[in-house]
Amino acid sequence: MSIRTNIERIRKTIPQGVEYVVVSKYRSIDELQQVYDAGMRIFAESRPAELNAKAGALPGDIQWHFIGHLQTNKLKLVLPHCALIHSVDSERLLRAIEDFCAARDMRVNVLMEVHIASEDSKQGFSIAEAFDFFAARRDEAFPHVAFCGLMGMATNTPDREAVALEFESLHALFARIKACRGDLAAFRELSMGMSQDYDIAIEHGATMVRIGSASFE
Ligand SMILES: *Cc1c(COP(=O)(O)O)cnc(C)c1O
Repeated sequence: MSIRTNIERIRKTIPQGVEYVVVSKYRSIDELQQVYDAGMRIFAESRPAELNAKAGALPGDIQWHFIGHLQTNKLKLVLPHCALIHSVDSERLLRAIEDFCAARDMRVNVLMEVHIASEDSKQGFSIAEAFDFFAARRDEAFPHVAFCGLMGMATNTPDREAVALEFESLHALFARIKACRGDLAAFRELSMGMSQDYDIAIEHGATMVRIGSASFE
């Protein structure tokens, strides 16, 4: 099937109010142009140099999101082009982003990545760490960072019940943070769900789904 056909098929399954983010990592400029021509404007990359090169080669009205592990020495490749970082996984990284943005008088939108999967390899804050961070108002130490919500990845398993429980745990955390921090005006996004499980994520309150392979294959 063509990229346009895939995208149109997926779009029909995504309700109003949920953002379809096309994960374009490893795909060619030509494939991304086809995604663009199918009407999509939010693309997500996981490698700094790749995001930087693609942002320079494709139309200027694309919103670039970053979803990979971000090393502090790569901020200059990502932050000037990036509408949203989904994958802030440590306070050390937040500190580096804050310093980078303060020096340039800019602000960046981020989601906190929360570890919900049972696999050890996934990065992120624990549920308790993420809640404490906001309950203790530690976000106030980062005035150049806009905290826009949470991101998580479920375990890669065919057990859809297990995946649903993980998404629900992130959704519950999201609701608890919003309830205790009504002052966080931008805190609205819950990024969860990929090609295999985005339907489950939407059932559990996702506001953004990140769909790579199913968009292209
Ligand atoms: C690659 C990736 C995706 C997309 O995965 P697919 O299974 O191809 O849809 C989503 N989120 C993150 C963080 C990724 O690294």
